[in-house]
Amino acid sequence: MDKAEDFERTIQLGERALGYLKRFRTPALPRNYELFYAYATDLYEDLRAAIAELIASGANISSAEAERLHNKFLSPNRLGRKIEVVGKQLTDEINQVLDNLEGGFNSADTFEEELAQTRTVLKKTTEPQDLEKTVQALLAGTARMADETGQLKSQLKESQLHIEELRHHLEFVRAETFRDLMTGIANRECFEWTLESAIAHAHENNQPLSLLMCDVDHFKQFNDTFGHQIGDAVLRLVAQTINASIKGRDLVARYGGEEFAVILTGTTLEAAETVADQLREAVISKELVRKSSGQRLGHVTISIGLAQLQPGEHEEKLIERADKCLYAAKDAGRNCARSAYVETDLAEKSAGVA
Ligand code: GH3
Ligand code: MG
Ligand code: MG
Repeated sequence: MDKAEDFERTIQLGERALGYLKRFRTPALPRNYELFYAYATDLYEDLRAAIAELIASGANISSAEAERLHNKFLSPNRLGRKIEVVGKQLTDEINQVLDNLEGGFNSADTFEEELAQTRTVLKKTTEPQDLEKTVQALLAGTARMADETGQLKSQLKESQLHIEELRHHLEFVRAETFRDLMTGIANRECFEWTLESAIAHAHENNQPLSLLMCDVDHFKQFNDTFGHQIGDAVLRLVAQTINASIKGRDLVARYGGEEFAVILTGTTLEAAETVADQLREAVISKELVRKSSGQRLGHVTISIGLAQLQPGEHEEKLIERADKCLYAAKDAGRNCARSAYVETDLAEKSAGVA
């Protein structure tokens, strides 16, 4: 496609995206525009199917719905591409180091074999985890060779340093892919990844685990009154406040928009209720003050839904139960927490068992 065609096509896609925003009465925020632009390109089959379903139901697409679609169909793609790009860079760099090493070690047969194997593995992988394993094996190999041969020591030292650098780069990339850029806390991908392994661990060891879904109350109104930028600053404050109240192995993540999820490992529903109250108190106790003018903006509150993992339960079901309780907390007037009791809890409660 030449430049003029390219230009025409992007303008057409942009116009279609705007058309969809109007048709579904979706606010024309950048993220929503991006969603419909992606929809207009025909490149995302799953996204097309999901939106077709919404169209068939005759519904408008709210900002919250658009965000859900964006998170589900576009954000993971972006993450995948990022990992791919960095993975490719690392592979290239490691190959470069391998070239240097091979040049100097024609006589060291076993090491040569190891290098050949490493190359084969590298061809097949761009995943950071797998690359890290390769890097570690390579480090062990180079360390051994450094002991055995005196003459190329300095060259090896340099290679080792280079590989160490790559490893740090890899750790950095992994940390970045799991961080929510706006609030600085863990993101949705990190939450999903952590919840899956925490649930597997809880089932294996027969340990309790509780999940909290927290949502800022009336945040739309707050944004409308004070503007999106102040809204963003408040979300950062809420995220940091919740994060600071949670310790050790537990995880706080931005689940989406103004919603945060907390995974409490080794924690029963009863203990989680205490944590939920502490979180609510911590958030409401922050007085919001506009830095530039000192203007007092009041307080924000959060509502919380809690659920404890049940025997054999999967993450979707646990999230769904906690989410339902979050809605119940909203219905009950907000700034409160509601728990998903299962039948055994209720029986114990009515029998007066603590
Ligand atoms: P409720 O108490 O029922 O939760 O009401 P709400 O207004 O908080 O809920 P609703 O889902 O209607 O609106 C959520 C709002 O949160 C919409 C949007 O204005 C705001 N929001 C979501 N993500 C962001 C963000 O990243 N930055 C800012 N500033 N606002 C956001
Ligand atoms: Mg919400
Ligand atoms: Mg809300």
